[in-house]
Amino acid sequence: MTSPQKSKPQIAPESLDDFPMLAGVGLSARRELIAAASERTLTPGDVLITQGDAQPRMFFLLEGELRVHLDTVDNEPVAMIASGETVGELGVLDGSVASAFVVAHTAGRALEITEDDFWQLTNASHAFALNLLLKLASRLRANNATVSQNVQKRRQYERAAMFDGLTGIHNRRWLDETLHRMVRRHAEGGDPMSLSLIDIDHFKGFNDRYGHAAGDQVLTVVASVLSANLRPTDLVARFGGEEFVIIFPDTKIADAVAAAERVREAVSREALRMGDGTDLPSVTISMGVTELRADQTVPDILKTADAAMYRAKQAGRNRVVTG
Ligand code: GH3
Ligand code: MG
Ligand code: MG
Repeated sequence: MTSPQKSKPQIAPESLDDFPMLAGVGLSARRELIAAASERTLTPGDVLITQGDAQPRMFFLLEGELRVHLDTVDNEPVAMIASGETVGELGVLDGSVASAFVVAHTAGRALEITEDDFWQLTNASHAFALNLLLKLASRLRANNATVSQNVQKRRQYERAAMFDGLTGIHNRRWLDETLHRMVRRHAEGGDPMSLSLIDIDHFKGFNDRYGHAAGDQVLTVVASVLSANLRPTDLVARFGGEEFVIIFPDTKIADAVAAAERVREAVSREALRMGDGTDLPSVTISMGVTELRADQTVPDILKTADAAMYRAKQAGRNRVVTG
């Protein structure tokens, strides 16, 4: 990193015509500006402004291109500045330390003015003060747009964090949060609630025989068959691996078992096909179903459902067992 070379500017006031920041600024104010400024010859890599610098200066870029970096000059630039543009005015205006690094991207030339020169120009030219306000306003608008984009992005990430990437249904994290909420509501004297734990039968063998991609395809199909065969108020999530959970709100165990049977049968009847059109054998699921009892916690109800599911496996798979 080098510092740019300084000299007295040898330029005519008209050569500043391209600067929107000087639109409407009279010849005498421009002459004063040129007289007060120093001209810098820029070579690529020259640092014009150092983040944290407490001596604010403003630059008018006559030729070349500048990069703006946050935190270190090695970071990706956050903005580029072209000839005819200015930089540094905000730091001068509010007297705070420089908020970014400004580095010469190409060879070029710039006029540099100090804080005093800046205020002299602002006092001498109403047009300059107005142009500054315009630039501030557009910076504010850009910031507002960035803030609202960030809010949108954060919402997207939050949403993504609650869904399973493969099957598109809710994931374990969502399930944990939802279950805790529902169990609490139940404990507060609410309505009945049932839950089913589902495990695909002989899935390891399926993967071994037809490949992991075929296995993934099965997980996706099973997830959508589950969702399609439940009431809109029932909730499905991927519990992990080849296991799923259904929450049946406001449902006693007899109705949950009936729904589970419907789902189990739908899965066993579902024709499976690889992405390339090759037919696959259908799969079956084993299900444990339980109704939440008073004083049960989330781990309790999951454990009860898991034990019932295990008994379904032992009893020959492709069946629903209650616990
Ligand atoms: P069981 O009938 O007793 O449940 O037998 P299983 O073979 O299904 O049981 P096991 O727990 O031994 O195997 C589960 C298999 O599920 C192992 C693993 O390869 C597979 N699996 C877990 N997650 C995924 C996944 O995301 N994609 C694929 N393709 N397979 C998965
Ligand atoms: Mg399993
Ligand atoms: Mg299994």
